Amino acid sequence: MLYFIAIKAEKGNPVLPQIRNVTEEELAAQRAVMARVAEENAARSAQPLAWVDTYGCQQNESDSEKLRGMLREMGYAFTEQEAEADLIVVNTCAVRGHAELRALGNVGALSHTKRAKPEQKIVLCGCMVQQEHMREKIKNSFPYVDLVFGTNELWRFPELLERMLAPHRGRIFEARQIDGERFEGLPVERAGSVRAWLPIMSGCNNFCSYCVVPYVRGRERSRRPEDILAEARQLIGDGYKEIFLLGQNVNSYGRDLDGGEDFAWLLKEINAMEGEFFIRFMTSHPKDATERLFDTMAACEKVERHIHLPFQSGNDRVLRAMNRGYTGEIYRKKVAYARSLMPDVALTSDVIVGFPGETDGEFEDTVRLVEDLRFDMLFTFLYSPRVGTPAASLPDPFTKEEKQKRFDRLLQVQNRISLELQAAHVGNVYRILIDGEGDRPGQLTARSSHNRLIHLEGSPALVGTFRDAAITGSNSYSLSAELRDKEGD
Ligand code: SF4
Repeated sequence: MLYFIAIKAEKGNPVLPQIRNVTEEELAAQRAVMARVAEENAARSAQPLAWVDTYGCQQNESDSEKLRGMLREMGYAFTEQEAEADLIVVNTCAVRGHAELRALGNVGALSHTKRAKPEQKIVLCGCMVQQEHMREKIKNSFPYVDLVFGTNELWRFPELLERMLAPHRGRIFEARQIDGERFEGLPVERAGSVRAWLPIMSGCNNFCSYCVVPYVRGRERSRRPEDILAEARQLIGDGYKEIFLLGQNVNSYGRDLDGGEDFAWLLKEINAMEGEFFIRFMTSHPKDATERLFDTMAACEKVERHIHLPFQSGNDRVLRAMNRGYTGEIYRKKVAYARSLMPDVALTSDVIVGFPGETDGEFEDTVRLVEDLRFDMLFTFLYSPRVGTPAASLPDPFTKEEKQKRFDRLLQVQNRISLELQAAHVGNVYRILIDGEGDRPGQLTARSSHNRLIHLEGSPALVGTFRDAAITGSNSYSLSAELRDKEGD
């Protein structure tokens, strides 16, 4: 609750977040540790194997790429088989109870692999274990976990790992409660060769009343524009075809910087770089999605014609209780403005069903908004209480069954809309990015600028290329297509 109190204080008497830049000396010390661990690993009879298991959002995927980068520097190779791993790192998520239960279930199963291989080390990190009650749970119920560290310790991973590997050290639990730190220059081992995550900021200042993110990820801090642009240039030079800008609320990028750069400026700068590539971003808070953002999207040909704009509820009382900072009407106006500039823009959103006290009538406002705005895709979640958030202590007279009924109804409405919207693409020709191989031999997956999933037939050599394709079929989830140009053209 500490941060919630700080934000309340901001309204009358500003309390500025304490954001610190990690110094070059501190990072050099971590690099020295990596070199020492690498030397020790090189002296072992076999190269040690690590398995990094990631839960949750793209931000966590991106953090895991840094964990893998540091592990590679420390002499580890990677495996997908937990039984043969010398080191298991579980990067956890706290956004919903379900994600925590899944991670805990899988950590529970690791007791067997550790029993079969007692020298195996098990590490837990990420949002779930930034919460004190979860660290207590791990301490008491998972005695075979060797190292637990929170989100603020990511750049200290080498030092913590070295301490854990030292003989006769007890279990290690580290999770500083701080507003946040900025750091640059950690090694990254990217998971893919077509799409690259590019974090532009971390943390969140919004304190939506149901959300645990500001408590576990700290205050907003933007990376310096020159660091982001240098990384984007590098990624494009390395052949990445989709630059995915990440932040809890990308629309507030730059507010904590002195130079006046904002997110729209960043989009323009990356759009001006040479080459054929898509620029995507996630997530946009509706209250900060400005006309300037939509104008910029419309003017930048490499920025995908897709915006993910979570509305969460169509009812104004519920939106107030969620502390979202906009009304249903404001949201509708923003969507109308975006569509007036980009009639073909794909719109996706998140919605929470069953927020504490949400009545049937209030839920109907959500259904109405969904019917009116016709989202291309909707990520629908049943409300999940999060310890320490204001919403978790609100009275809630509605049963799980009643909420589930609403959830199912909304899903039905959205499935119908998705089917209709998807079918309208059949016959169109799109420039698509082929981003991977499908489940069947000879099948490829691709994305259009509208971020639609497309299946087509073709050679794996096409992965990582842009092609023109005609849409030949659809279902509520994906499209099928045929290439217009021949392979190798
Ligand atoms: S803006 Fe997003 S991350 Fe931030 S508090 Fe709200 S829901 Fe959570």
